[in-house]
Amino acid sequence: MPIIEVELDQSICCGGRQCVAAAPDAFEYLDKGIAAVRPAAAEVNLEQLLQAARNCPVMCITIRRDGEVIEPQ
Ligand code: SF4
Repeated sequence: MPIIEVELDQSICCGGRQCVAAAPDAFEYLDKGIAAVRPAAAEVNLEQLLQAARNCPVMCITIRRDGEVIEPQ
């Protein structure tokens, strides 16, 4: 089973919530106006994670599989 890692660079997150809409079990919206990775994000369906990363307007979500970046490509 591949190891999936999900990162979110909060320093550039603009708070549009596209990630939350695409993968609500992987991302949450914080009161301070930015998103965060939920603890169980790595267990979420990979396609949903990839879609969330692709939908992010500032490309601040990185998805790795077995240590290799698979999104953004
Ligand atoms: S889609 Fe990107 S910029 Fe928008 S809230 Fe999610 S991480 Fe932040």
